[in-house]
Amino acid sequence: RATAPLLKVEGLEAWYGESHVLHGMSFDVRQGEVITLLGRNGAGKTTTMKSIIGIMGKRTGSIVFDGTETIKMPSRLIAKLGVAFVPEERGIFSSLSVIENLMLPPQIKPGGLSLDQIYDLFPNLKERSGSQGTKLSGGEQQMLSIARILRTGAKFLLLDEPTEGLAPVIIQQIGATIQRLKNDGFTIILVEQNFRFAQTVADRHYVVEQGRIIDMIPNEEMDASVDKLHRYLGV
Ligand code: ATP
Repeated sequence: RATAPLLKVEGLEAWYGESHVLHGMSFDVRQGEVITLLGRNGAGKTTTMKSIIGIMGKRTGSIVFDGTETIKMPSRLIAKLGVAFVPEERGIFSSLSVIENLMLPPQIKPGGLSLDQIYDLFPNLKERSGSQGTKLSGGEQQMLSIARILRTGAKFLLLDEPTEGLAPVIIQQIGATIQRLKNDGFTIILVEQNFRFAQTVADRHYVVEQGRIIDMIPNEEMDASVDKLHRYLGV
């Protein structure tokens, strides 16, 4: 029996002031899936994530999360439903240590990971626990920004280009982390420009162009879709 998707976005439109950037986004995500939003710079991927967590000033259409319509909800109530965003900028407090960064977010829902569980997932953060945010490598900062939200109890994660600017070996580690979170029951939307990486972690891929979804590619069709992807992404 088909179950309702955990997230269903329909006809989503969003604006920055007068600038209309999402033009009827529609897609869905099932419980436990990892899906990607692929697309060129400026296609509207980040704006889609900001709309889902409720920080776009003007948004219309429908975003149903776990049976609740959230299109008009303030972001703090959406966070309470267990939806969390890891921005591309990562938002690490550079003057604070790793452990201080980890302890910052409040537990919003029951089921947030303990510090021990977080260190088990990210052993390198345990080693660096006393280091200042500024002393971390880009990869460690990315791990820390993901680790930090796991404490909140959010089970639906929006990751904005987690691999941006990182070395291949670190990208692999991020991929392994995403796999592990998926196995632990998290549901994840990943924004990516690197479709080769996307292919190693995701179940399905939505292609975003000019504020709309223009294609959906199941992961098993990615190899056969390489020409199309090069066209879409201009790579
Ligand atoms: P990128 O990889 O560059 O982040 P993206 O697909 O995530 O690409 P968005 O950041 O969602 O794209 O941007 C969609 C459109 O909205 C772009 O035309 C962008 O210039 C515009 N835009 C993004 N942020 C703002 C803002 N704060 N104010 C005004 N326009 C914005």
